[in-house]
Amino acid sequence: MDLLEHQGKELFRRHGLAVSEGAVANNVEEAVAAGRQLGYPVVVKAQVLTGGRGKAGGVKLAGNEQELRDHAARILGLEIRGHRVKKLWIERASEIASEYYAAVLLDRSARAPLVMFSSEGGVEIEEVARRHPEKLARRHINYLAGLGEEEAVQIARAGQAAEDVIDGVAKALCSLYEVFCEEDATLAEINPLIVTPEREVRALDAKVTLDDNARFRHPDHEAYANLDLIDPLERRAKEEGVQYVQLDGDIGILGNGAGLVMSTLDVVAQAGGRPANFLDAGGGANAEKIRQATELILSNPAVKAVLFNIFGGITRCDEVAKGLIEAFSALNPTLPFVVRLDGTNAEEGRRLLAEANLPGVHPASGMEEAAKLVVALAGGQEVKG
Ligand code: GDP
Ligand code: MN
Repeated sequence: MDLLEHQGKELFRRHGLAVSEGAVANNVEEAVAAGRQLGYPVVVKAQVLTGGRGKAGGVKLAGNEQELRDHAARILGLEIRGHRVKKLWIERASEIASEYYAAVLLDRSARAPLVMFSSEGGVEIEEVARRHPEKLARRHINYLAGLGEEEAVQIARAGQAAEDVIDGVAKALCSLYEVFCEEDATLAEINPLIVTPEREVRALDAKVTLDDNARFRHPDHEAYANLDLIDPLERRAKEEGVQYVQLDGDIGILGNGAGLVMSTLDVVAQAGGRPANFLDAGGGANAEKIRQATELILSNPAVKAVLFNIFGGITRCDEVAKGLIEAFSALNPTLPFVVRLDGTNAEEGRRLLAEANLPGVHPASGMEEAAKLVVALAGGQEVKG
């Protein structure tokens, strides 16, 4: 579960990490009330479940009430990377002497938490890693021993923090590590972690992902669910009992079983395509579920071509074919579909599809062939057959 900036900052504050005073606002009037209470200048910040808000115009400084009104009204109308802004965070503006970067994340391959710190912050960390690798400290932490002050100081030094704030940075890293462990996060990132002219170290942004598997341990986290902000398609999928994750490409993907869907994403990417979604119809999906799933894929306007990759086990390919045929008669899609059916009742499924002779449906026999075909079709290429 991803948190909004202000929710992440609330957790930071609880664990002793310095953050600025602020308030949530759902409309311009609430923003103005917050401004009056905080005192100017303030920063008006879009609360959306995506980064890069600054570049998209979702973070603005306001020196007085009129500016606050203007910014709040404009930002509330924005769409940032597909996320409509419905909520603002108004925060007392900080003066910035330096922008650093700090993060704790779960490094699954190392099976350990990874602490990262750099004195080059405020830009994307991938860019820091490329341009200033010498200023990026990375250190795995022994989960049982935890992160001690001494080790945190070493990390701050390695990332080249200014000498007079080494202790402040180390303390911030320890607090961030505490957030990561005690709140069961998989990611806790601060970019930028600033140094003020008074040499105070403070988190100006917060990106926190909580581990859903640990939710039962944190009844207080329920309040962070952000149901109103979750992608409406993802929410609908949840209601219908299929696994759906929106991605930003243009090839709609449907498979049965998470493993098969993931490898389908890989094969499509290898063929040069960009998946638009992850959709797992699950084991034993019947025609009705396949029809719903197809509808779900087609309601994403970015989709240019669709790939069905079914390996029938409990799921029967004839049911999948029936679902697809039903979806076609209900929705009359004009997009090309590539359909690979294999496993239980595959013959029967293929026969049903051949008989139905649906417009724009291309059978494929293997996964790679299917991927290449759908990538070509999404790119608008003519395909015979
Ligand atoms: P992001 O673009 O989504 O990562 O949003 P951030 O919260 O990181 O804000 C983007 C940028 O706005 C930061 O890197 C800062 O440079 C700037 N910014 C945010 N808050 C303040 C503030 O209180 N004072 C000043 N001077 N700049 C700020
Ligand atoms: Mn940021």
